Amino acid sequence: MSKRFFVAEPVTGDSALLSGAEAEHVVKVLRGKVGDLVTLFDGDGAEFPARITAVGRSSVALAVLARQEVSRELKTQITLGVALPKGDRQRWLVEKAVELGVAQLVPLVTERGVAEPNEAALGRLRRYAIEAAKQCGRNRLLQIGSPQTFGEFARGANLAALRLLAHPDSTAVPVAGLAWAGPAADVWCAVGPEGGFTEEELAAADGWRRVSLGPRILRVETAAVALAAWFSLCDAIRPGP
Ligand code: SAH
Repeated sequence: MSKRFFVAEPVTGDSALLSGAEAEHVVKVLRGKVGDLVTLFDGDGAEFPARITAVGRSSVALAVLARQEVSRELKTQITLGVALPKGDRQRWLVEKAVELGVAQLVPLVTERGVAEPNEAALGRLRRYAIEAAKQCGRNRLLQIGSPQTFGEFARGANLAALRLLAHPDSTAVPVAGLAWAGPAADVWCAVGPEGGFTEEELAAADGWRRVSLGPRILRVETAAVALAAWFSLCDAIRPGP
């Protein structure tokens, strides 16, 4: 699984070119040489054994040896709407979401939110998603959606999906207690900011089930990862589609 590199352009022919951060990784970190074997992926589901044919200052050319459809995805489609925490905790959140097989992460714009999901922040999240996919062997990238309010997120959700709002109160049911069966379900989860969702935001949660993650107050990223971990691990015993 090591020496995996992400190619931004879809790999279609028998050659590929790495540039930017990926080329730098090959040249400066791994000291890649002509003839070295690596694995490429373009985020679209397949991986490609490849051999380095030329190493430039800021680009690396490769011969693509084969196309292999290797899925390390969940059957369950997990969409996580999260009010982003600050700084490094965003990186942790994205990394763990990728490792656990989350399909899509949507930054939620909430009244009590602390981090603004601007273009620069979204760019960083996408880069973290690539780094994590390289490391954990996923051939599909975690999709980072456009920032939305909880209302917009809720309206855009698949109504047939299991829709869960993480909320630490006594009316919430324990997530592990949800009866949940059937083939390859779609799960949408919403996690609020450190200050919690406001009453107005909660009012937009029509059709969403409030779930508890226990009697302790978790950090935003812990709550998001706990939910993703639950569905990720349950996926192994789900019937296929
Ligand atoms: N003071 C806030 C706590 C926010 S914690 C409040 O009372 O709402 C940040 C977010 O993490 C919450 O909005 C919720 O989505 C999630 N969360 C944290 N701990 C949780 C728990 N024990 N059960 C369910 N959700 C939790």
